[in-house]
Amino acid sequence: MSSAYDDQNIFAKILRGEIPCNKVYEDEFVLAFHDIQPQSKVHVLVIPKGAYISFDDFSQEASDAELAGFFRAAGKIARDLGIAGEGYRALANHGVNANQEVPHFHLHLFGGQPLGRMIKVPG
Ligand code: AMP
Repeated sequence: MSSAYDDQNIFAKILRGEIPCNKVYEDEFVLAFHDIQPQSKVHVLVIPKGAYISFDDFSQEASDAELAGFFRAAGKIARDLGIAGEGYRALANHGVNANQEVPHFHLHLFGGQPLGRMIKVPG
């Protein structure tokens, strides 16, 4: 994966309002919206407003305020969605081995149903 942020990625376009999204929540640090191809009853993506490629980039380069703002918001979003009580999964794919498709850091929130055990690693 390139180390330069691609400002033409689809989530950058959503942040700029060039492409619509089904918005769940927004504040100064994050935007959250429903995944276009949901993989569970509730499947929401939480993205930072800053230009970060992946979890690896975000965890190294984001300010303390951005880190706190992001994770506080992600927890609140899950509670507001009503999935925190029964439980949910928060997942971030970084890089090629994880099949990250969109090079703007995003946290998947899966919930609203039993999710089974952790992901299966191909043999
Ligand atoms: P990842 O494989 O972790 O990069 O996941 C990218 C996710 O973005 C996938 O679950 C896609 O379904 C989702 N996605 C791609 N384009 C859009 C879009 N325009 N609006 C909402 N979700 C999207």
